[in-house]
Amino acid sequence: MRFSEYNILPELKENLNTLGFDKPTDIQYKAIPYILDGEDVLAIAQTGTGKTAAFAIPIIELISSAKVKGRPDGVKCLIMVPTHELAIQINTVFNKMTKNTKVTSFAIFGGVEQEPQIKKLNDGLDIVIATPGRIFDLIHQKHLDLHRIKYLILDEADHMLKLGFYKDITDLIKFLPQRRQTLFFSATIDENIKRLAYSLVNNPIRIQISPKDPVAKNITHSVAYIEMDHKRFFLERIIQENPEAKILVFVRTKVRAERVNKAMDRVNIKSITIHSDKLHKERTESMNLFRSGEVKILIATDITARGIDIPDVDFVVNYDMPEISENYVHRVGRTGRGKKKGIAVSFCAEEEKKILQEIETFLNKPINILPIENEDYEETIDFSEDGEKDWKKLIAEEEKEEEKKEGKKQTTKTKKK
Ligand code: ADP
Ligand code: MG
Repeated sequence: MRFSEYNILPELKENLNTLGFDKPTDIQYKAIPYILDGEDVLAIAQTGTGKTAAFAIPIIELISSAKVKGRPDGVKCLIMVPTHELAIQINTVFNKMTKNTKVTSFAIFGGVEQEPQIKKLNDGLDIVIATPGRIFDLIHQKHLDLHRIKYLILDEADHMLKLGFYKDITDLIKFLPQRRQTLFFSATIDENIKRLAYSLVNNPIRIQISPKDPVAKNITHSVAYIEMDHKRFFLERIIQENPEAKILVFVRTKVRAERVNKAMDRVNIKSITIHSDKLHKERTESMNLFRSGEVKILIATDITARGIDIPDVDFVVNYDMPEISENYVHRVGRTGRGKKKGIAVSFCAEEEKKILQEIETFLNKPINILPIENEDYEETIDFSEDGEKDWKKLIAEEEKEEEKKEGKKQTTKTKKK
């Protein structure tokens, strides 16, 4: 069945056509009719399979068909997501899909001025896409009234129901009408979280696509055994050998993101970082530079692991193994999106082999190992343009430097308290 045969408003069809969406993906095909029917839905489908449109299409249709022209009657749909970047991205999708319709949407998050958000809300909005935090300020200051919410959507639902976010979500639900439709979307979920989700709704319809392998089939992923101190040389080699490629590099910490960035800079590779120590403005800039391809190497922490849709990412490199197993699925899922194919490689040092095992248990199967001959391994280190071959000394110096910085931060923190 094609979108042109769906019983949805013509403008929405036209917008889907402009986006190049001809047929629904599996998750869209299955979820859209239930959502249009008013059911609560828990939908699990692999990364890059079009979950955003699976809720955006029916929500736009539902809101549009109930809307009385010219009467702003409050926010009707609230979409909760974990990061600013994801809120912005989903809002961009909504903007494209609501073109020439009466339906309006906006992204709300902290770290930016509140006034423009208040103005938007006062002007009348149908759909708000938000991270927890700022939204509570706006509720308490009475700028955001949630009494007319009909639809609550948790994207990256398992993450939104985890410790850290769970209380925010349950607090938020207290502000919402009891009669509402609730939708959960994610690529991963475990039994515990599933139970939590069920406890928040009545009898949801459960839709799960290819549950056996959580890694999307368009992704070829493997692991290479590389010692911690050598990882920079292997990253350098991958980049030099694929000069046109867009590469997303995941590291364990913010400090390591900056360190890898510096190492790349030393060998004249242009890269940028994104992590939670950066200002909202800087994060958006990094994202835009990478999205446009102006900078082809983005070094990120796990904040970028979920949801981000950049269709032309060629490689994901797990420079460090992800400590949370499901993040493996989300990180590698930043490539191989839609119909595209993608490659992911994970650098696993001796001390990370335990993490690798945990990930393999989570995936329920071993990850393909990329064999590296001794000769190749040595050559990669020699191949580096880093004139400073005494990297052990270099790393030691950097670490000292960082410890100093960390130490300073600690003291300022204690002082503040
Ligand atoms: P997910 O949330 O499942 O990870 P997204 O919603 O971000 O995936 O979609 C992944 C990509 O697939 C996006 O670039 C989107 O434009 C594309 N896409 C989604 N649905 C369709 C469709 N029906 N036809 C063609 N492309 C689609
Ligand atoms: Mg998504």
